[in-house]
Amino acid sequence: MEKNEKIAILEKLVSIDTTDQAESVVADYLADLFAHHGIQTEKVASKPGRENLVAYFGAATDKVLGVTGHMDVVSIGDRHKWTNNPFTLTARDGKLFGRGATDMKSGLAALVIAMIELHDEQVPLAGQIKLLATVDEEKNETGAQTLTAQGYADDLTALLVAEPSGVNKQTLAHSNLKIPKENLQTLLAANQTNEQHFLIFAHNGSLDFKVTATGKTAHSSMPALGINAIDHLLTYYNRQKQYFDQKHPVDDVLGDIVPVTTLINGGEQINSVPGHAELTCRVRTTPALTGDQVIADLNAIIAELNQQADLNLELTVINNQPPVKSNPQAPFIQTVQKIGQQTLAQDYPLMHVAGGTDAAHFVKNNPDLPVAVVGPGNDSSHMIDEYVDEEMYLRHINFFKAVMTAYLE
Ligand SMILES: [Zn+2]
Repeated sequence: MEKNEKIAILEKLVSIDTTDQAESVVADYLADLFAHHGIQTEKVASKPGRENLVAYFGAATDKVLGVTGHMDVVSIGDRHKWTNNPFTLTARDGKLFGRGATDMKSGLAALVIAMIELHDEQVPLAGQIKLLATVDEEKNETGAQTLTAQGYADDLTALLVAEPSGVNKQTLAHSNLKIPKENLQTLLAANQTNEQHFLIFAHNGSLDFKVTATGKTAHSSMPALGINAIDHLLTYYNRQKQYFDQKHPVDDVLGDIVPVTTLINGGEQINSVPGHAELTCRVRTTPALTGDQVIADLNAIIAELNQQADLNLELTVINNQPPVKSNPQAPFIQTVQKIGQQTLAQDYPLMHVAGGTDAAHFVKNNPDLPVAVVGPGNDSSHMIDEYVDEEMYLRHINFFKAVMTAYLE
C-alpha cells in the first residue's frame, strides 16, 4: 500500500467523531475496506450504533494471533485550544494531529493495514490473525466485555494491543517512568527516531467501588433526632485509609496497589443532619493483592463498623478488572521485542504501566495469554493537540506485519 493511502485511512478514522458514540461508522468503513481486499468480517453489537468489528483470515491451526484496538476516543475538551480542527488529521513537522491520532486510531489503522498487506501479498500463515476492534474502551470497556462474553477471545494464543506505547524523546527525561539515568542515556543514544517506545507486558488491574453511609435526616437544631451519615462515612474513611496505608503483599513486577479516593459527597442541605454520604475509590490492583481481596478486606471492616449502633455502611463494586501480566520469557513477547528493536530502530525495553486496556477482559478465560501492548502512539494521548509521529505510524505497520508473519510462521 502506498504511503498516501496509509495516511488517508488514518485521516478517515480521525474524521469520524467517536467520542463515546458512533463506532459503527468506523466499523462500517473498515468492513468495506476489508471486503475490498477479500477479508471476512463480522459485526458484534454492544449497543445500538456501537458495533465491534471482528476480522480474520489465515489457516485453521491451533495458533490464533489476536490483535486489538478501540474505535472510540475521549472528548476533545475545549475546541478553541486546538491549533486545528481535532477531527481533521493535520500534518505539521512530521506529526499528524487530531483526536485519536495517538489513542488509538493510528494503532488501529496500522493493524488493519498490516493485515491487508499480508493478505494481498498472500504470505502463507500457519494460523489465524483475528482483529478485535472494540467500542467504548475509554469509558466502560463494554466492547471487550461483549466480545469476551460471546467467546471471541477464547481461541486466542497471543494478543497484541496497539495502544500508544511511545514517549517523545525530549519529554522522556522529565517523565515519571522509572528508568535509571545511565540506562536512559544509553537508550536515547541508540535511538534513531523521535520517540522512545516500550513493550508493555504488564499493567495493573482496576477496581472502582462506592461506599455509602445511610443515616437519618433531621433538623439541624435537633441533631439527636437524626443520624449523621457524614460522621459515619468519615469513621469508615479513616479505617479505609489505615488499611490502604498498611503494608501489603507486593507483586514482583507491578509492586504495591495504588489506591485513590476519587469522589466524596454527602448531605442534603445546610440546615439538616445529613442522611446520606458516599465516597468512591479507584484502586490499581496487582496479582499479589487482587480486586477481589481488597473488596473482601474492606467488607470485613464494614461488617465490623456496622456492629456499632446506628452505623449503616455498604460497599458496591462498580468495576473490577484484573491485572494483565505476561511472562517476559514467553516466545511471543521475545519475538515482539526482537522485531520491535529492528523495525523501530531503537533499543526496545520491556515496561509495565498502571493504566488498563481491553486486554483485562480478553484474558479472563485465558489468564496465561501472552499480551504485548505496543502501538505507534505516544504520551500526547487524551491531550489537546494530540498527535502521532508520522514515521512511527509507518514503522509500526511494518512492525505489526513482521510480528504477524513471525508468530504464524
Ligand atoms: Zn486507548
